[in-house]
Amino acid sequence: MSKNVNIVGAGLVGSLLSIYLAKRGYKINMYERRADMRTAKISAGKSINLALSDRGWRGLEGVGIADEVRKIAIPMYGRQIHNKDGSTVFQPYGKKDQAIYSVSRAEINMKLMDLAEKAGIKIHFNERCTHVDRRTMSAHFENEENKKTSNVTSDLLFGSDGAFSAARLNMQLTSDRFEYNQHYITAGYKELIIPPGPKGEFLLEKNALHIWPRGSFMMIALPNMDGNFTCTLFLPFEGEKSFDKLKTREEVKKFFDEEFSTAVPLMPTLLDDFFHNPTSSLVTVKCYPWTFDNKIALIGDAAHAIVPFFGQGMNCGFEDCVVLNELIDKHKEDWNRIFPEYQQLRKPDGDAIADLAVGNFVEMRDKTADPKFLLQKKIEARFNEKHPDKWVPLYTMVTYSPNIRYSTALKEGKRQQAIMDKVMALEGIDKKWDSEEVEKMILSEISK
Ligand SMILES: Cc1cc2nc3c(=O)[nH]c(=O)nc-3n(C[C@H](O)[C@H](O)[C@H](O)COP(=O)(O)OP(=O)(O)OC[C@H]3O[C@@H](n4cnc5c(N)ncnc54)[C@H](O)[C@@H]3O)c2cc1C
Repeated sequence: MSKNVNIVGAGLVGSLLSIYLAKRGYKINMYERRADMRTAKISAGKSINLALSDRGWRGLEGVGIADEVRKIAIPMYGRQIHNKDGSTVFQPYGKKDQAIYSVSRAEINMKLMDLAEKAGIKIHFNERCTHVDRRTMSAHFENEENKKTSNVTSDLLFGSDGAFSAARLNMQLTSDRFEYNQHYITAGYKELIIPPGPKGEFLLEKNALHIWPRGSFMMIALPNMDGNFTCTLFLPFEGEKSFDKLKTREEVKKFFDEEFSTAVPLMPTLLDDFFHNPTSSLVTVKCYPWTFDNKIALIGDAAHAIVPFFGQGMNCGFEDCVVLNELIDKHKEDWNRIFPEYQQLRKPDGDAIADLAVGNFVEMRDKTADPKFLLQKKIEARFNEKHPDKWVPLYTMVTYSPNIRYSTALKEGKRQQAIMDKVMALEGIDKKWDSEEVEKMILSEISK
């Protein structure tokens, strides 16, 4: 078969996918709306960093580029909780040496583009996809600089153009019975910064993901290679404590002094950053089908945009590439069989991680400071240590267990929570949490 492939969107997932396909001899053209970020200046306030974990690493390892990315990644071994009274607590993410890795979204994207070009892929910048024509397999573009329009055809086309995918919109408009659902949570986010100290040193623990949990809202901070921390404030748009109530410099200063008093001295440009950087919204997108005529497919956020609270959006998109690659082997490049199985396999997992991510917002902003929740985690960790074959904590399943599907993790997590609800209801659980009685109770519940 001919092997001409067009990819719309040279973000994280499109760039990785292009490398997988190029290694198999496909001829790839990739079209990106933005200018080349390696030469253009990246706009301030969009310096997001992402947590890369085992599913993402597996995606990078599959094409032999994990070591390149490791050079720009900082391990975070747990959550450093900053309580309102100024005290801090470190909560490990898993066993010793288990970590998630902070990478700058721009850095990893630039690295992937470099590696894609090295693999022979042509990236066309400033080309905004306006629509895709299924009948003619053509993608249409408008150049963002000179407004010239063009169209290109290919044998296969992938839409990896993110949460607000133009490719998906077109499929939605031209496909019968296309399912589409988008949901905005009531909170938005704003990026802020903790710069390095005078000697370029990190002003917080470098190898941790920092959280200031405050019930209905929170701030987090992830380390960057240059000593900065990118902070993200997640706050409702409306209500008593909300973006709506932070309109003046005085209001912002008062809010931060009250809520994040230990962080404020580390944020010298807080007020300027707050008013300069955008407030962005958080959306979940679910849709189906993900493939059309066995020639066009959606992948990454274009197929399943999720909120960021499990740190899995990119990881899930990289896993899409892994699964697709396995199916190419399995079906010997027969796309009539690859595409149907790809969407059949991945859709339940995309839905599952979307739901898990929404649930984890509550855990991060609220429960990480709740002694009852911490006790439950302690009981689970102890039981897991004694019976690793019987109980893998939900966080471990999602983050460190790429062989467990997201849909299985969601199901198993619900079963575990039902058991833990019974355990936590035991009288005097705080005193006997590490007793044989509790262990036996969990064993008996598991076997039911
Ligand atoms: C605040 C925040 C924190 C996050 N934290 C994490 C985390 O810790 N861990 C994690 O795994 N994930 C995280 N994510 C999610 C992660 O950023 C996404 O899942 C990931 O970027 C998806 O990659 P993608 O390539 O599918 O889409 P994108 O990265 O959005 O790339 C899409 C590309 O397509 C281009 N494009 C868009 N429209 C067009 C068009 N019409 N024509 C041509 N090109 C177009 C865009 O310019 C872009 O380059 C976070 C997201 C947010 C918002």
